Amino acid sequence: MSAADRSRPDFARAAGWDRDWEVYLDADLPTYVGPLSFSGLPWVDDAAEIARVRADIAIVGAPFDDGTSHRPGARFGPRAIRAAQSQSGRLNSLQLDVEPFSVLTAVDAGDANIVPSWMERGHALIHRKVRGVAATGAIPIVLGGDHSITWPSASAVAEIRHPRSIGIVHFDAHADTAPEIFGVLGSHGTPMRRLIESGAVAGRNFVQVGLRGYWPEPEVFAWMQAQGMRWHFMREIEERGAEAVIDDAIGEALDGADAVYLSIDIDVIDPGMAPGTGTPEPGGMLTREVLRAVRRIVSSVDLAGMDVVEVSPPYDHAEVTAAAANRCVLEAISALAVKKASGAIVRHEPG
Ligand code: MN
Ligand code: MN
Repeated sequence: MSAADRSRPDFARAAGWDRDWEVYLDADLPTYVGPLSFSGLPWVDDAAEIARVRADIAIVGAPFDDGTSHRPGARFGPRAIRAAQSQSGRLNSLQLDVEPFSVLTAVDAGDANIVPSWMERGHALIHRKVRGVAATGAIPIVLGGDHSITWPSASAVAEIRHPRSIGIVHFDAHADTAPEIFGVLGSHGTPMRRLIESGAVAGRNFVQVGLRGYWPEPEVFAWMQAQGMRWHFMREIEERGAEAVIDDAIGEALDGADAVYLSIDIDVIDPGMAPGTGTPEPGGMLTREVLRAVRRIVSSVDLAGMDVVEVSPPYDHAEVTAAAANRCVLEAISALAVKKASGAIVRHEPG
């Protein structure tokens, strides 16, 4: 020991800080500490490693809002949804009586390789990322991003599931089936039309829930009807109740499709409960109705993939919208955990 070491003051000892403190793994620390991943899951952005660990589910960020028609900001959604969680360590679903991450092998696969102001590249890289994850057999759960990301994301899942088919259950205030918006095919008002036109999803396997407001025009609904799409307006939920409408939607989703891609535009929830979105539409579903619907749908169908989109943190207050989106994801994960705990295989075995 040098003279300098011998004379160095020991303020830690003087203050009583030199005890043998327990040190925790990142995953067990509070979620506001350390690197940011969904629910503190391991950050595994290499598809080969996701395949090696045989992940059941993989979170994917799609931080992209170049398809926005009105208020932007959804590019910040993935980060906000990951951050909007106060619990850490062992999560216990009181709704479904399961500890999801004790049952499932889950990873956060990171974000698609997005740069700003380049719609085609953004969609291409989201497609590549989701396809890479889905090809491992993990169910991709994609955090948007504006709703245009559903075009590349669901296309990727449809490719991996081929020759089996996917249907889509789509929660939204808006139909997102416009032919174009100001001449732009990749707008967030058009992805559902692109998916049907390309053949990724058959119109008759497409179910929409929560539509309301003043858009789109009757010609668009005529096109939807011609495709065999099914939809449930918010006024039907008001008249019959969410439970009965979701029962019908589940039956319709299972009518013809082998598996279901679930797409949740957070603006399906009333803007009083989820204000942080680009195109708020008053008179929407309750947060608890949507969370219950997610549990019931994921429990009832073979889930091929999922996205939660249109969370725009700059318009959010007290993180309520990000928290609702985070819970949509957790409810789906917990429903998958219940399935796996009962002996079912939830991941996709390609081949
Ligand atoms: Mn939408
Ligand atoms: Mn919408």
